[in-house]
Amino acid sequence: MREEEEISGRVSLRGFRLRQILIKSSSDMQIIRSVGELTDYVAKQKNNRHSIGFVPTMGALHAGHISLVERAVKENAVTVVSVFVNPTQFNNPEDLATYPRTEEADIRLLAKAGVSAVFVPTVKEIYPDGAHTVKTYDLGSVAEVMEGKHRPGHFQGVAQVVHRLFELVNPDRAYFGEKDFQQIAVIRSMVASEHLDVEIVPCPIRRADDGLALSSRNTLLTPDQRMRAPGIYEALKDSVEYSLNHSVRATHDTVVERIDAIPEMKVEYFEIVDARTLMPVEEWDEASEVQGCITVFNGKVRLIDNIRYR
Ligand code: AMP
Repeated sequence: MREEEEISGRVSLRGFRLRQILIKSSSDMQIIRSVGELTDYVAKQKNNRHSIGFVPTMGALHAGHISLVERAVKENAVTVVSVFVNPTQFNNPEDLATYPRTEEADIRLLAKAGVSAVFVPTVKEIYPDGAHTVKTYDLGSVAEVMEGKHRPGHFQGVAQVVHRLFELVNPDRAYFGEKDFQQIAVIRSMVASEHLDVEIVPCPIRRADDGLALSSRNTLLTPDQRMRAPGIYEALKDSVEYSLNHSVRATHDTVVERIDAIPEMKVEYFEIVDARTLMPVEEWDEASEVQGCITVFNGKVRLIDNIRYR
């Protein structure tokens, strides 16, 4: 039995809240590398009726990830974070090869944030029968547009790993960042089609002081590219006011022209969509919630961002 559980056992009559606080105040985070250990850990939490919050990540952690983790720690008895660079969601081998990996620093950050267990598996551990021998998920139309169109196979890979991790961790709640706006819709779709019992909790985008959406890939930018990168959010932010007296088309074009004018930057796509269905809108009043989703190549680094219009 872990020390904090013994303590919480002794004071359990004083109530559930105190017990939760004691569990969370331990910095004794478990580092789990195998599916077997994880299964045992999860079974123990379920036996103790501890609610499980889960934050799946690919590591190279920054304050954006930590904001999800802090929310999970606040809302659940235990929080499990996975750090796994999932090869099946990369459609570009160079992107996979250059993806930043900072395991030691990640583990330190997670321990400090009050995480109960971090799961750091190998590819073999996640896909014992090989990564490409698994089924195809029914993800619906939300997976066909934008990232789905430009990164073939990406969302199948995301669904594959998130489904596998959900099976292993069996969380009550799972936390996802709105930076990957479309990903949340795709995960919800997978959860519905697989009849999974997990609450998907969307969390707001965390930005650097200069407005750039925090991303593990930001570390791959040259100093000049990093200096110019806030231009993406500036164009998006200014376009919200512009949209109040301009058409969807004009708003779209002004964003693309402004970002394409920045050295080394090229918009891959910018779509103004119904925030629920992710289908493009032509008029502002076509949907009750309208989102602008953008992908920009800054040199070779692909950055994504999004903004709410209505
Ligand atoms: P990743 O490690 O990029 O797969 O991201 C893991 C989770 O962190 C995903 O749910 C992301 O949407 C979320 N995330 C990444 N960057 C940010 C950010 N700047 N703000 C909020 N959430 C983020």
